Amino acid sequence: MALKDIEKRVSAARKEVEARGETFYPGASRIHLAAFPPKERWDDWVELDTRAWPKRVEHHYMLVPTTCFNCESACGLLAYVDKETLQVRKLEGNPEHPASRGRNCAKGPATINQIQDPDRILHPLKRSGKRGEDKWVRVSWDDALDDIAGRIRKALVEKRNNEIMYHVGRPGEDGYTERVLAAWGVDGHNSHTNICSSGGRAGYQYWMGYDRPSPDHSSAKVIFLISAHLESGHYFNPHAQRIIEGKQNGAKLIVLDVRLSNTATHADHWIAPYPGSEAAICLAIANDLIQSGAYDRDFVRDWWNWHEYLVAEHPKLEPTFESFERVLKGLYTSYTFEFAEKESGVKADVLREISRIVATAGTRLSTHNWRSAAAGNLGGWQVSRTLFLLNALLGAVATEGGTFPNAWNKFVPRPIYTPPHPHVWNELSWPVEYPLAMNEMSILLPHLLQDEGRGKLDVYFTRVYNPVWTNPDGFSWIDALTDEKKVGLHVALTPTWNETAYFADYVLPMGVGSERHDVHSYETHDSQWIGFRQPVLRTARERMGETVKDTREVNPGEVWEENEFWIELSWRIDPDGSMGIRKYFESKKKPGEKLGVDEYYGFIFESSVPGLPEKAKAAGLEPLDYMRRHGSFEIQKKIGALYKNEVPAAELEDVATDQHGRVYTRAAKPATPNIVPQPSPDPDAQGRRLAGVNVGGKVLRGFPTPSGRLEFYSRTLVDWGWPEYALPTYIKSHIHPDELEEGQMPLIPTFRIPIQIHTRSANAKWLDEIAHTNPLWMHTSDAARFGVKTGDLVRVETEIGYFVVKAWVTEGMRPGVVACSHHMGRWKISDERGQRQMMATVDLDRKGSKRKMRRTKNVEPFASSDADTARVWWTDAGVHQNLTFPVHPDPISGMHCWHQAVRVRAADPGDRYGDIFVDVEKSRVAYEAWMKKTRSAKKVSPDGTRRPYWLLRPLKPGRDIYKLPESSRTPERSEGTVANEKKK
Ligand code: SF4
Repeated sequence: MALKDIEKRVSAARKEVEARGETFYPGASRIHLAAFPPKERWDDWVELDTRAWPKRVEHHYMLVPTTCFNCESACGLLAYVDKETLQVRKLEGNPEHPASRGRNCAKGPATINQIQDPDRILHPLKRSGKRGEDKWVRVSWDDALDDIAGRIRKALVEKRNNEIMYHVGRPGEDGYTERVLAAWGVDGHNSHTNICSSGGRAGYQYWMGYDRPSPDHSSAKVIFLISAHLESGHYFNPHAQRIIEGKQNGAKLIVLDVRLSNTATHADHWIAPYPGSEAAICLAIANDLIQSGAYDRDFVRDWWNWHEYLVAEHPKLEPTFESFERVLKGLYTSYTFEFAEKESGVKADVLREISRIVATAGTRLSTHNWRSAAAGNLGGWQVSRTLFLLNALLGAVATEGGTFPNAWNKFVPRPIYTPPHPHVWNELSWPVEYPLAMNEMSILLPHLLQDEGRGKLDVYFTRVYNPVWTNPDGFSWIDALTDEKKVGLHVALTPTWNETAYFADYVLPMGVGSERHDVHSYETHDSQWIGFRQPVLRTARERMGETVKDTREVNPGEVWEENEFWIELSWRIDPDGSMGIRKYFESKKKPGEKLGVDEYYGFIFESSVPGLPEKAKAAGLEPLDYMRRHGSFEIQKKIGALYKNEVPAAELEDVATDQHGRVYTRAAKPATPNIVPQPSPDPDAQGRRLAGVNVGGKVLRGFPTPSGRLEFYSRTLVDWGWPEYALPTYIKSHIHPDELEEGQMPLIPTFRIPIQIHTRSANAKWLDEIAHTNPLWMHTSDAARFGVKTGDLVRVETEIGYFVVKAWVTEGMRPGVVACSHHMGRWKISDERGQRQMMATVDLDRKGSKRKMRRTKNVEPFASSDADTARVWWTDAGVHQNLTFPVHPDPISGMHCWHQAVRVRAADPGDRYGDIFVDVEKSRVAYEAWMKKTRSAKKVSPDGTRRPYWLLRPLKPGRDIYKLPESSRTPERSEGTVANEKKK
């Protein structure tokens, strides 16, 4: 087509779109480099073949939206499907997506590498040698499904429900698989959360009843980040663009990070405190706000549970707000800037200046801590709790430019079936020693399997999860996974080889982000949206009039998607429906037939996403078709302060108000829980549910905490044996200078680089070319002490072993601390299988409790279906440091406390780059030592249950299952609880 004809089309499309009052994207790159293809032209988008230049050879594409699966942000992507070859040519941003707005990080477009990866797994494989011998045979999906289903059916029939476990890293979806497990009646959900965010979550949960923050960065006056959030944080790209918008609007950016990260380089104030001292800094700022009266008195009066605190802890005082203010003034006086300087090493005057800036923010203070310090330190959960204290003092909660609870900026739709809560409790995920753990204690699984009487696994699924590599103590994982008495059958669901899959019985090929269905919604900004991931070739073929029954028909090889896999597997577990499972996987439209993904998602989009059916109708489409064409839908913008919503009179029936202003009702819960916050804690003595709180004579929604308010004082922590941590406070880290032995220093292994994502991106050649090493960051003064320079080998000794890595000497690092990115050090056990462009080949050596890993072959060029693999110029793949870390579970949040006390020195003459040594006996000793820090529910539970019912928990079992078995209860109580009982 001639250029002038294209321009005519563009001009006509512009008029048409603008007449409808919608935004017109100016079009192809010849007009504007940052332009997007206008959606009116997505069915036939024309680009010229660059390689044919100067000839004008046109390519016609169908643009199909999907969602990136290379991190949790779920940014929109547009797949360019070549209409001639029906192959994906490239992926770029989807301008229709409300969170990413057409922008992506490097990992989004690199999805095309993952589709075309010459080393990807294309067919179901079954182990043919011993576990870990790397011998495999190709099997049919039918055989694999029948074998796995038969084993699950037998376990269920024999009431061994707790022997079935699904262990997921990045879910990438909202609840689909949890409902599969609920339908099977198993408490078998295990996650990666305690290597990621249990610490961050706990701090927020105890304040708000919600376990995540949603900062409104773009409207903030001050942005306070405890992390490298701008380059690599949670909701990375959607947040990064809004942080930059905030800066463009004049916001001041404060960053706490031991490294001069890319985020720190954008900060107005970068400080590098001693790791673990962050809570002391937040408390010094809080104390300053309190002493200077710079806090929002009305907000604190109305929304903190100060009354409950005074009555419980200061019973002799008159329970007035004025009394509370007097107490508050005395609570944090020891947290001076000088104290914070002593802990953090940051000058008191610098902290004072930062505090003054925070005070100017008013209600426009956006703060964020997620992994970072909350994930690195014993007591790290108090970092997010003390950071949110600043928001709570300034009233910067659910305000424009403030920080929201995540659930108000997220939308989880109601699915077609909701199976009941499972009637079992799995001690292998939720051990009794951790009644307050935010999520499953997944890092402990190898040790729990080793403990006498905890249980074993008959069928263990890993999915987008690679614990041998990602978790600490990987050699203990290898030991557990190779022991068939502990793990009967291991099924790895993965698109690509990983270190854990080598120790599986089945390796089943799953789709990447453009080859599968999922719905999701995340708290990227003050809005509620829903995104739709889809197999783009299926959608393209359907748009061309073809019928696709099964995603395998369009995916490479026999690659499948999990949704169809779970439906098929569930039918084979319960083929005649007699177990009560099959009914949750049957079509409602065609009873007796299998549920299909079109019906599953069609139901959601038709009946449970407000506004979507109307929007689709206006476009002349069915809701499912609308989502297939647009990939996302924004339900509501500017959600605002939902806690201030008045509870309608219809929801107030036979109400009772307690002394703290909690209002209970007998009326049923309203049916719109996604839009309206619903307090869900315990009912009152008469069985009424909490409806809200009385503020100024009105019943307002409040927060889903036991008090209905923001919990400055956590009665839950008091009642469950931790009264010393009931208020926001500072807990000294396990790597605090007081805890270090002579010659030790902290290693920060938590930081992530923006280009790679754990083990999911080694199958992207562009990313591997950019980032393929993880040297040890060290300050010039430390390097001089060790006698090393950049590139020299150093040995880093941990509690259980050591690793050998290259030094990187820089001024951009806090002296006395070293850091190493956790995205590198991929390995394979033979040359035959694995990501050859990013995995080194290694020898694993096992003698008694001693484990060694030595590299036998670096990355090198190779011949494959992709000519670029012959051009691989890098040889490095980094060093797998996590293998040398023991488990460090925080006794409250359950978070693995990642930071390590290490000794660093120049490598020995016999050391080689990438060498790893570990003594797993020492791993066991470390596990037992950290278990001693816990306060078991058997000792501290105030009501004979395993866990406070109001705390969030994936796949929450029925309430009766929360009861501890009679035999396991003990009259012994912890000192904390005894002390508290005396107070009562
Ligand atoms: S931030 Fe990058 S990796 Fe994450 S979803 Fe967006 S494009 Fe993908």
